[in-house]
Amino acid sequence: MTKCTHCRLNLAVFERSYSGERLCSDCFCRSIQDKTRATINHYGMFNHNDKILVAVSGGKDSISLLNILAGIEGKFPDTELIVLTVDEGIEGYRDEAARIATNATRQLGLQQILISFKELYGYDLDQIVKMHGGRSITPCSFCGVLRRRALNIAAREERADVLATGHNLDDETQTMMMNLLHGNALRIADVRPVLRSTHPKLVTRVKPMCRVPEREISLYAYFQGIEFQGISCPYSGSALRNDIRFLLDGIERNHKSVKFTLFKSMERIRPALEALIEEREIGECRLCQEPTFGEICNTCQLLKELSIL
Ligand code: SF4
Ligand code: ZN
Ligand code: ZN
Repeated sequence: MTKCTHCRLNLAVFERSYSGERLCSDCFCRSIQDKTRATINHYGMFNHNDKILVAVSGGKDSISLLNILAGIEGKFPDTELIVLTVDEGIEGYRDEAARIATNATRQLGLQQILISFKELYGYDLDQIVKMHGGRSITPCSFCGVLRRRALNIAAREERADVLATGHNLDDETQTMMMNLLHGNALRIADVRPVLRSTHPKLVTRVKPMCRVPEREISLYAYFQGIEFQGISCPYSGSALRNDIRFLLDGIERNHKSVKFTLFKSMERIRPALEALIEEREIGECRLCQEPTFGEICNTCQLLKELSIL
């Protein structure tokens, strides 16, 4: 049995293949907290007196993020942490996750805001999927657009300074690949740790765990004894993201730091992409008055397709 390369006292339970570290569970968990803190500092994600809304679905990423932020931001008396949970309306999946998110919020003594697709759009995701009948748009495309809108509206109404989400390194590299495969190369510029508000109706979004691999977040949750939802969304099987996940995981088995390399490549090419993108003025959607580049926002276009608008 090997000793932990950090404390040199406890037995190592995890080998970090891309760095050569062998860590005991305590040092491993501390390394995840340190990495998250370093990411927050590196990108200047928070101010000492921010009102931070944390999007918590009940999955391992968002619950771990909440756990870590409560530890970090709890040391700043002027910072306020509030939990935001969106119920998309996915039977047998989201109700269980929302219960877990509520338990975690209570254990930390925080306030939770709950919003649902049903109350915002009049229909839950299950109904929308049935109405759409499996035509051109996948459930995840609907879900992503409607959830982003829901999160921004809730954060704005709560007068939050910043909205934190649990995106991890795998999410970010998958999104980069998806943009490439969809032919949206310039949108790689939008895959970034901090999306600063560019309109009074948009709340700044940050991803403090964007440099932590998904597998390490799972292990963190396990070592910390954090309860999280283990089952996958019933709609996830149809997503292109899933195929990209398998592809990247397969490459990573033989080439250890390929996801970090992709992430760093994104960071390097972003300024060049930004220079290519014309400075476009954000206006307001003609139908809902939410911020958008075009005349009608993505959300309204989707809702029109479903004849909801
Ligand atoms: Fe929504 Fe797709 Fe995630 Fe399910 S897998 S919660 S449908 S984005
Ligand atoms: Zn140790
Ligand atoms: Zn609109």
